[in-house]
Amino acid sequence: MSDETVDVVIIGGGASGAAVAWSLAATKMHIVCLEQGPMPNPADYPTTGKDWEARAQRDYSASPNVRKAPADYPINDDDSPIKIVNFNGPGGGTVLFSGHFPRFHPSDFKVKTLDGIADDWPVDYETLEPFFAENDKMMGVSGLEGDPAYPPGKTAVMPPVPLGKSGQVLAKGFNALGHHWWPSDVSVATQDYDGRAQCINLGACMTGCAQGAKGSTDVTYWPHAIRAGVDLRTECRVKKITMNDETGMASGVVYFDPDGVERHLEAHVVILASNGIGTPRILLNSACDSHPDGLANSSGLVGRNLMLHPYSWVQGVFDEEVDGHTGPHKNIWSHQFY
Ligand SMILES: Cc1cc2nc3c(=O)[nH]c(=O)nc-3n(C[C@H](O)[C@H](O)[C@H](O)COP(=O)(O)OP(=O)(O)OC[C@H]3O[C@@H](n4cnc5c(N)ncnc54)[C@H](O)[C@@H]3O)c2cc1C
Ligand code: SF4
Repeated sequence: MSDETVDVVIIGGGASGAAVAWSLAATKMHIVCLEQGPMPNPADYPTTGKDWEARAQRDYSASPNVRKAPADYPINDDDSPIKIVNFNGPGGGTVLFSGHFPRFHPSDFKVKTLDGIADDWPVDYETLEPFFAENDKMMGVSGLEGDPAYPPGKTAVMPPVPLGKSGQVLAKGFNALGHHWWPSDVSVATQDYDGRAQCINLGACMTGCAQGAKGSTDVTYWPHAIRAGVDLRTECRVKKITMNDETGMASGVVYFDPDGVERHLEAHVVILASNGIGTPRILLNSACDSHPDGLANSSGLVGRNLMLHPYSWVQGVFDEEVDGHTGPHKNIWSHQFY
């Protein structure tokens, strides 16, 4: 028995869930997004208090295993050299991301042909370029046009974030080595933009930007999607996708509402946008008589071979003041070894 029938249900209101909600909103279909976390409140962000650095290691840690908020579930990453980071709530990972916004290069789509590894993509950069541009506009990406590492034609939405003293030190270093450098593309508003206040360079981007300057999708796509009629329901955790055995198609979801009551929502279209861990988790949880190994799993590969994003840094101590604590952090990049 279904409690309700809608046109589209989106599972997860993070980066991709917010973008797809906005992109479908103009159809005026009845679209519901079920998101397990609550709407982030900028007034709660650690930077509004003096203990913000300590809170970055506690309730605003990027690790759900440390944070342990009601919206988080523990993730066993014992066998992984790279630990899980995420955020569960509208905006998803972008609430804690630094806003670094490099595009793929055309060569990324042809790694099999060019480098003999992995596989070529079924699409190329030129096909995706209009969508990169649209996303830059929605997210409010700052940058400087003319980077020779990119194909020509990319236009910046706003001026770049300031290099600052640390960026100038890095630029001098790159110049001495003769390496490429360029001001980074960052989804940080350097001017008042789309209802968001401009960045004030405080430097605490990775515990949530209380200023609203950082383009996390709770402040970029979601206000537009909600205004256009999308029904975003927070603190609703999806348990599984249901199947219509006659058509062999997904028919809706079973979820827990904010009071923990189990509900069934029928939908003509089911969109799964629950990230690299949550998406296979739901597909496997949805095992049923017609799909005993979970949905979309005829290969047996769902939930295997997850590739996390490695990250390494070098920290330097300088005699002169370089204002390394100020933000945004991602002010300069080099694609010398891309
Ligand atoms: C600390 C950090 C730094 C990062 N830095 C950058 C950066 O500088 N630049 C960059 O491009 N990327 C960065 N990223 C990565 C980027 O944020 C992610 O790639 C992006 O958010 C993934 O989008 P997604 O929609 O797939 O998943 P997410 O944004 O994770 O959204 C998935 C959503 O689904 C919800 N969900 C999951 N399961 C369920 C369920 N069962 N029921 C209901 N809802 C559910 C989750 O709560 C979450 O809100 C960073 C991420 C983190 C965490
Ligand atoms: S440095 Fe800018 S983007 Fe980062 S938290 Fe401060 S205001 Fe937000």
